[in-house]
Amino acid sequence: MDREVRVDPALGTVVHVVGNRQSRPNLATNTSTSTCPFCVGGLEAPEPYDVRSFVNRWPPMPDDRCEVILYTSDHNASFGSLSIEQATKVIDLWAERTSQLAARADVDYVLVFENRGAEVGATISHPHGQIYAYDHVPERPRQLFANNWAPDETADRVINSNSEWTSFVPFASIYPTAVTVAPRQRVGNLTSLSTKQRLELAAMLIETINRLDHLFETPLPYMMWINQQPANGLVEDAWMSIEIVSPWRQKGLARFIAAAEVGAGEYFNPVVPEQLAEKLRSISQ
Ligand SMILES: [Zn+2]
Repeated sequence: MDREVRVDPALGTVVHVVGNRQSRPNLATNTSTSTCPFCVGGLEAPEPYDVRSFVNRWPPMPDDRCEVILYTSDHNASFGSLSIEQATKVIDLWAERTSQLAARADVDYVLVFENRGAEVGATISHPHGQIYAYDHVPERPRQLFANNWAPDETADRVINSNSEWTSFVPFASIYPTAVTVAPRQRVGNLTSLSTKQRLELAAMLIETINRLDHLFETPLPYMMWINQQPANGLVEDAWMSIEIVSPWRQKGLARFIAAAEVGAGEYFNPVVPEQLAEKLRSISQ
């Protein structure tokens, strides 16, 4: 049995059992560009490139549903160090891949995401993100859109805004460090973003990640993902957003989800969202 999707009969939790992934490479601590598969000349990037996408060689789901997105050929960059022009190219590629994958009859949801740092499971340090295209709408985005999610920021949780986007600390995150970036006017998905909205999103993401990297004066391990409108007309009037969260509550100190939380499904957050927002706001750019 190589892979199988199982559903917990009592809880309805979906678990992808993927037996082949233990053999995938783990290069998170390898800083050498000569062995990096994403550097130019490497296994996944034989030719020079600016941004690049390709099907994941170690996919947790079959049928070319898992892709890798390379943000830049510069091994030592990060999303936060990209120029606005380069970050816009990444957003354009996210949008293009979303459009292509969502057009498939067997794709209902396109999840664009990034894990940065070994602590959140990134196995290669070269700046990159991923895309999973699901044949159903997973439970979290399904709930989010069923409840008509819209930005709910209050002044004391806002970090910053530009003409198109606002960044804020969510009202009740389960993560000690969490930021949401949302368009000020309702937009459903990446594909629908105007040129100006893409440029402003690039600026907002660069700024937000730089603020997060200054929070503890060291690059923050984070998970970033985009909530966007499901495909095939399953949801109307979705309001997209980008979430960036970290398990860190202090420099180098992760707060793990513990037994009572897993057991009860209720969470304890040691960080007050309004205080986190105040700290992030005060970091000068
Ligand atoms: Zn590299």
